[in-house]
Amino acid sequence: MSTPKILILGAGYGGLLTTLQLQKKLNYNEAEVTLVNKHDYHYITTWLHEPAAGTASADHARVYLDQIIDTNKIRFIKGTVQSIQPEERKVTLENGDVLMYDYLVIGLGSEPETFGIQGLKEHAFSIRSINAVRQIREHIEYMFAKYKMEPERTDYLTFVVGGAGFTGIEFCGELADRIPELCREFDVNPELVKIYNIEAAPTALPGFDPDLVNYAMEVLTRKGVEFKINTPIKQCTPEGVVLATGEEIKSATVVWTGGVRGNSIVEKSGFEVMRGRVKVDEYLRAPGYDNVFIVGDCALIFNDQGRPYPPTAQIAVQEGENCGANLVKIVRGEAVLEPFVPNLQGTLASLGKGEGMGMVGTKKIYGTSAALMKKASDLRYLYKIGGVGLALKKVRL
Ligand code: FAD
Repeated sequence: MSTPKILILGAGYGGLLTTLQLQKKLNYNEAEVTLVNKHDYHYITTWLHEPAAGTASADHARVYLDQIIDTNKIRFIKGTVQSIQPEERKVTLENGDVLMYDYLVIGLGSEPETFGIQGLKEHAFSIRSINAVRQIREHIEYMFAKYKMEPERTDYLTFVVGGAGFTGIEFCGELADRIPELCREFDVNPELVKIYNIEAAPTALPGFDPDLVNYAMEVLTRKGVEFKINTPIKQCTPEGVVLATGEEIKSATVVWTGGVRGNSIVEKSGFEVMRGRVKVDEYLRAPGYDNVFIVGDCALIFNDQGRPYPPTAQIAVQEGENCGANLVKIVRGEAVLEPFVPNLQGTLASLGKGEGMGMVGTKKIYGTSAALMKKASDLRYLYKIGGVGLALKKVRL
C-alpha cells in the first residue's frame, strides 16, 4: 500500500495545530504530509490589533514556520491556493502547480464580511494579516504628518472603527493608547483627535455579559473613544462614512472589523457554505467528502441550542488538534474517530495596555487581572506551538 498523502491548506491556528499533531504523533514515512501557506510564517491573529495601532511591531506577531516545523516530517510549500477540486482530489496553486492528496485539511481562515455595505471593500481597511496591519499603522502615522501640512483637514485626525465586536473593541483600546504618543511626535493637540466606534447591533460586544460590556465601554470612553451603538453604517466613501441616521462622519481612516466570513476559495471550489463557512460533520468533514476536513474560520459548527459557534482562535486550535489526532487514526487504520466537542474555557478581550475584561469559566474578570490572564493564555499557546523557547522570546509582560 502506498503512503497516504495529507495536504493541509493554511498555517493559521487550525492548519498549524493539525500539522503539529501529525508531526508529533506520526513516525517518519507513515504519511506524506504537506503544508501550504501564503507566507513562510504563522501569524498570531489575536495580536494583530496591536501592530495595526502601532503599539507593537508586526514582526512580534509572527513566527517563522521553520522554527516550529520539522521539515524531515513535513514538506512546506510557500504558495497561494487558487482552487480546490475535491472530486479529483487536487489543489491548484496560483503559480499553476497542482498538488494531489488522499486527505485534505482546509484551514484558510476568513475574509471581511461587508454585509453589502456600499464602499466598504474599496475604502476601508481591515485587520487581517501582517501586511494589512503594516499598512494600517503606516497610514495612521501618515495622517498625522499630513494634518500638519493641511491643518484645516480634521478628517485626517478622525478615526472610524466599524464594528464593536471583539476585534473592534481591542483595536480601539490600542489606538486610544497610541494617540498620545502620536500627538507628542507630530505636535498635535490631542483634543483634535477623534475615535468613533460604530456598531449596528443594539449593544457593543454582542453575546457578552452586560456587566463586561459596560466595563469595556466605560474604559474605552475614558480613553477617548466615542461609541455610536445601534447605528448601522450605510455607506463608506473616500471621505468617510454615512450612517443610517443620515449623519456623515468625515474620516480619512475607516477600519472595518464588523464581521468575517469563510475564505471565498472554499465556496468557489463548490463546497456548500453559509457565509463562506462549511457546515461540517462531527468529525469536521465536509458533507459528501469523507477525506476533506475543515478547521477554523472556514468550518461552521453548532452548539446544543442549534446556534453557530462564533469563529475564534480557541475553537480553531481545538479543531486542529482533533483533526490531526483523527488523521493519525486514519493513517493507522483505526476505525473509530474522535468526534469534535469544543471545550470553551472563557473569553478575554484586551482594552489597551494593562486593561482587559472577560469570562474565565463562569467568573467575570476585569482590569489588570484580565490583562494578565490574557497574557497567560498567549503564553500557553506559544508554548504549545514552539515550546519554552518561543514562549520566552515572544511574550511581553
Ligand atoms: P487564520 O488564523 O486566519 O489562518 C489562515 C491561514 O491561511 C493564514 O496563515 C493565511 O496566510 C493562510 N491563507 C489564507 N488564504 C490562503 C491562500 N489562498 N493560500 C495559502 N494560504 C492562505 N479569537 C479568539 O479566540 N480570541 C481572541 O482574543 C481573538 N482576537 C482576535 C483579534 C483580532 C484583531 C482578530 C482579527 C481576530 C481575533 N480572533 C480571536 C479570531 C481568531 O483570530 C480567528 O478565529 C482565527 O485566526 C481563525 O483561525 P484559522 O486557522 O481559521 O485562520
